[in-house]
Amino acid sequence: MNFDRIIGQQRVKDILGRAIEHQRVPHAYLFNGPEGVGKEALAIEFAKALYCSNKEQQPCNTCSNCKRVTHFEHPDFQFIFPAPKTASTAEERQVLDSLANNPYARYKPWASPTIGIDKIRELRHVSNLKPMEGKRIVIITEAHNMTAEAANSLLKILEEPPGFMHLILITSRLNTLLPTIISRCQEIRFNILSDKEIEQALIDREQLDGQKAEVISRMSQGSYGRALLWLDEKFDASRELSLEFLRVCLKSPMNQFELIDQLMQKYDKKVIKDILSLVMIWFRDSMYYLNGDENIKKYIVNVDKIDTLHKFVNTFEQIDFEKIFQKVENSIQLLDKNVQLNLLLYVLLTHLQDSLYIKGKTQ
Ligand SMILES: [Zn+2]
Repeated sequence: MNFDRIIGQQRVKDILGRAIEHQRVPHAYLFNGPEGVGKEALAIEFAKALYCSNKEQQPCNTCSNCKRVTHFEHPDFQFIFPAPKTASTAEERQVLDSLANNPYARYKPWASPTIGIDKIRELRHVSNLKPMEGKRIVIITEAHNMTAEAANSLLKILEEPPGFMHLILITSRLNTLLPTIISRCQEIRFNILSDKEIEQALIDREQLDGQKAEVISRMSQGSYGRALLWLDEKFDASRELSLEFLRVCLKSPMNQFELIDQLMQKYDKKVIKDILSLVMIWFRDSMYYLNGDENIKKYIVNVDKIDTLHKFVNTFEQIDFEKIFQKVENSIQLLDKNVQLNLLLYVLLTHLQDSLYIKGKTQ
């Protein structure tokens, strides 16, 4: 099998490759694992391999079957994803195009969409029709976002799948799926990727320089999808702002309000969440640095800013890490709720200030 386009996941590649070689492809797979580790990408490659007309290696990526699957134009191949009822065909096409362009970066234009009954009803109708070219392959991603009605309807297909049909369900939240669905699928477990795998992929596929690739790979916590989200220039900007946020927490309330105003005028919640995540990572690095031995570089994310980190931790007599982690984590969670953003940031700054004991200064 030729699953070279997929980052890591050797164990899964072996399992799927053997299934094709031995012609024992089950009617329903359930790809389960964290987001951004390549479940969708591998599901598409697997479909390609099943349709590929090249005898030498599958998928060959050059035969017409491979090409039609890549561009979601194969008549017997379907990729179902959550979308609101109001989504137009053009909007849905945009999502598929994003996957054709990069199967690790599906465009997600809607807030919390679901897979509705209409989609599965349509699938049930289609699944009764004979495929035009031998087999029908259907990928349902974010299967946990099916409505209850949709899930029950899908169960009907899973109970008696037509011989020519292969379903691949994808989820990152296995425990929210109906047990009756899970039990009818062969589960394939995906693990997170290693920092090295992500780093190399960023260098090869995104032409990143080595150091930036290393930092981003360490920030992505095993998810290539998450690594890609850090890729635009906003990464450097968010990083600079996170350091600014730390600097200002040692300054006067006046300075703090200025920065908060600036953040709120220029950036949305998503960026502010990134900034707080980076603040969290900075403190985690500080803790490793203080407890560190010669292996320190292995654990630190901000490997390119060791000098700044050194200066930072040496400013303080003591840092109350436990309190800091708890407060930052709490603020990140509150960001998703309907809270007053400026107040939230101000309170967080105050907590940080109280947790950092500057050398030679009594608090
Ligand atoms: Zn091919």
